[in-house]
Amino acid sequence: MDIILLGPPGAGKGTQAQRLVDRRGMVQLSTGDMLRAAVRAGTPVGRAAKAIMDAGELVSDDVIAGLIGEALDAIEPGMGVIFDGYPRTEPQAASLDDLLAVRGRTLDAVIELEVDETALVDRISGRFSCATCGEGYHDRFKLPEVAGTCDVCGSTEFKRRPDDTADTVRHRLAVYREQTAPILPGYEARSLVHRVDGMAEIDKVEASIGRVLDGPSASVAAGQRR
Ligand code: AMP
Repeated sequence: MDIILLGPPGAGKGTQAQRLVDRRGMVQLSTGDMLRAAVRAGTPVGRAAKAIMDAGELVSDDVIAGLIGEALDAIEPGMGVIFDGYPRTEPQAASLDDLLAVRGRTLDAVIELEVDETALVDRISGRFSCATCGEGYHDRFKLPEVAGTCDVCGSTEFKRRPDDTADTVRHRLAVYREQTAPILPGYEARSLVHRVDGMAEIDKVEASIGRVLDGPSASVAAGQRR
């Protein structure tokens, strides 16, 4: 089963994708994570992408298609994929159909995490993570139990994304509205879209997504509107 997790920055796509990886053995393909890895590794793609990402703009569709194509080729047959933060433009959505079709894969669902945009700036601009294991924290909502020490691995090193400042978050939200939200009607026309309340508790969001994935009768309960 291949699915898209769609929603503005801070909607919880990464958190929910990680749960699906842990509980269902799916593979998470996050273009944001791939680009950040390329930046850290200093590859040509990473060097070109860094300033674009820091400004909250979108990296070119061609670069993204290349990353996704390579990642899909590396996946073992039979593994379901969660596309996280991709596609983000109409050309990317069209290209995803092609990338899947040539590999004999099909898109099964688009899960839109619905969120209150005003809460997102607070959610994102306070977030940070363990530099060692990646566990996520937040200045107001989830501090480590022992100040300065990761609850999971005990590391004392933490990091913040350079594009998680309030101004850049506002710009990323505008980019989402202008360039990413327009991909939804195409998926609605194919009856692929399921809407989930992304403002609910993390476990409840996970349960709603689970109902969508587990069957048509369950997906009605999960809030599918069309
Ligand atoms: P994310 O981690 O998904 O919030 O992505 C962080 C940044 O990486 C975005 O603000 C973009 O600059 C870039 N990025 C990630 N995914 C894409 C994509 N599918 N298309 C274009 N740019 C992307």
